[in-house]
Amino acid sequence: MRALITGGAGFIGSHLAERLVAEDHEVWVLDDLSTGAMSNIDPLMQGPNFHFSLGSVTDEALVGPMVDRVDVVFHFAAAVGVKLIVANPTRTIETNIRGSEVVLQAAARKGKLTVIASTSEVYGKGVRIPYAEDDDLLLGPTSKSRWGYACSKAIDEYLALAYAKERELPVLIVRFFNTVGPRQTGRYGMVVPTFVRQGLSGDDITVYGTGEQRRCFADVSDVLEALLRLVDTPSAFGQVFNIGSEQEISINDLAGLVREATGGRSQIIHAPYEEVYEEGFEDLQRRVPDLGKLEGAIGYKPSTPIETIVDRVIAHARDHGE
Ligand code: UDP
Repeated sequence: MRALITGGAGFIGSHLAERLVAEDHEVWVLDDLSTGAMSNIDPLMQGPNFHFSLGSVTDEALVGPMVDRVDVVFHFAAAVGVKLIVANPTRTIETNIRGSEVVLQAAARKGKLTVIASTSEVYGKGVRIPYAEDDDLLLGPTSKSRWGYACSKAIDEYLALAYAKERELPVLIVRFFNTVGPRQTGRYGMVVPTFVRQGLSGDDITVYGTGEQRRCFADVSDVLEALLRLVDTPSAFGQVFNIGSEQEISINDLAGLVREATGGRSQIIHAPYEEVYEEGFEDLQRRVPDLGKLEGAIGYKPSTPIETIVDRVIAHARDHGE
């Protein structure tokens, strides 16, 4: 297969690029390096089946010919990370909506299979656990930037489904839940790499809020296994799928786990949300995916335990001096 990965220098995109190249597919990456990094794809740069273009996914003149060249488009370029989203709401909304418009328009010209990377954030603050794909979305007020991000990704989904309906474009929409693995940066707020960096350097591990909020963390390689099985399943096209793990852990327990696994030198401290995000920031107490639809379609769901995921992140950080 020939694949274009927008945002391919980012965390999940670079793992996908690595895997596709290893399976002898030819990969083109388009990335503006706003949150991605060349270091994520450096090992791939010399390979004959890997091509990198520096540029924006909102640049139609650049995106059009790249889409024409491939069989499948993985549209992963988007603003990510709660911290970055709250700090840069304009860029977040514009990049997400405009980028998807450009990619879908180009893909529709020749009917190219397009995978839209969406997010569990679209469920907003839904209280019915677990979250199923057909649940109502429950977003907060427009005065809170977090929900602008959720809304922009929901628009991406509506748009992709509109192309599927009106233009018969094969699309796949995947809602990634908390995904973790080597090379993920803590710079934009993600909790596991942040705790690991703090634990390895013996700094305080900063738990926001009470720490009783819970999340389910999935290993990036499991997430990609699910994604690639979906791409091989034409009956899944035109639909939305959750991808994540169902195993919940509280942020307090995660902090304790990372503390022990990194040598036990750090203190665990609690910080109010207002200090790190914005006034009135709304966090979610629980977020659990319903994976029934995914499992029904592909006979697989991510299941690597959080202890193993944390060990892998620590091993990578140690090897790379992070
Ligand atoms: N969090 C934390 N300390 C940090 C970063 C995040 O306690 O240094 C918390 C955050 O408030 C949230 C959870 O960890 O409750 C997961 O945060 P992340 O940004 O990784 O993902 P989210 O699920 O919020 O999208």
